[in-house]
Amino acid sequence: MNEYICTLCPRSCNAVRTEKEGSGFCRLGTLPKISRCAPHYWEEPCISGERGSGTIFFTGCVLSCIFCQNYTISQERNGKILTVRELSDEIKRLEDMGVHNINLVSPTPYAESIIKCFELYKPKIPVVYNTGGYEKAETLRRLEGIVDIYLPDLKYTDTQMSKTLSGAENYPEYAVSAIEEMVRQTGKPEFDDEGMMKKGTIVRHLILPQHTKNSIAVLELLKERFGSDILVSLMAQYIPMGKASQFKELDRRITPREYNKVLDRFEELELDGFVQELSSAKESYVPDFLSDLKRGDEYDIK
Ligand code: SF4
Repeated sequence: MNEYICTLCPRSCNAVRTEKEGSGFCRLGTLPKISRCAPHYWEEPCISGERGSGTIFFTGCVLSCIFCQNYTISQERNGKILTVRELSDEIKRLEDMGVHNINLVSPTPYAESIIKCFELYKPKIPVVYNTGGYEKAETLRRLEGIVDIYLPDLKYTDTQMSKTLSGAENYPEYAVSAIEEMVRQTGKPEFDDEGMMKKGTIVRHLILPQHTKNSIAVLELLKERFGSDILVSLMAQYIPMGKASQFKELDRRITPREYNKVLDRFEELELDGFVQELSSAKESYVPDFLSDLKRGDEYDIK
């Protein structure tokens, strides 16, 4: 793949992308650029288990969330470019370490390379597609048979919010259509004898400070549109990162009152899924990507 005209995500840039560079919104080339590749223990219990989720953090993003919790890799695009064969080797290496699944984080700009990678080698453990939710259903359809578990966000139902905070006014419509396609592919959640997820869709929502109305609207939409076909993961780990300090209301953690308000609605709606404790808002839950890249230990990309 020398030069590629890209319409993989809802930005539909029609941008020219070479293997190492791109002129689209994401500024990425088509070869996988990786920031971290290691067992990860802070996903939902049915994803992380005891042995961890074999997580591959791809560099860059199709969104530009000002509060991004992975800012150094999503917006500053730190990482190392691999060939498709090298990515496949990393997947095998993680599988050999005994992780429960292969977890692809922010993978969509690299979808073409990922499809080729799984043609080279398909692991025997489930493949997780972990995304901010800003996806095109037609791109997801090409992943049918590769991905076993979808782990999208639904960040907003409000277009003004998605425009201001993530630079994507059309986020809500695309994210909901994407979840429909994900659920069509996976069906209802399925688990193995140890309670680890084999198939299904878990929709995450991160509560933002001063935006409980948005969180409640998201939960209500998920209940109405998807009912028991999905699990919902309510996240309370928000800490001000990235450019969040430029927005006064985002420059703090969520309060117990905000947390309880959203949690009460989650319980009233009888949603199935997971709720993070408010005490989980700690920086230690965010991998230190920059020092990982410098460290050169066995988990790093060589
Ligand atoms: S993946 Fe990147 S280049 Fe392709 S459409 Fe999306 S933002 Fe544009």
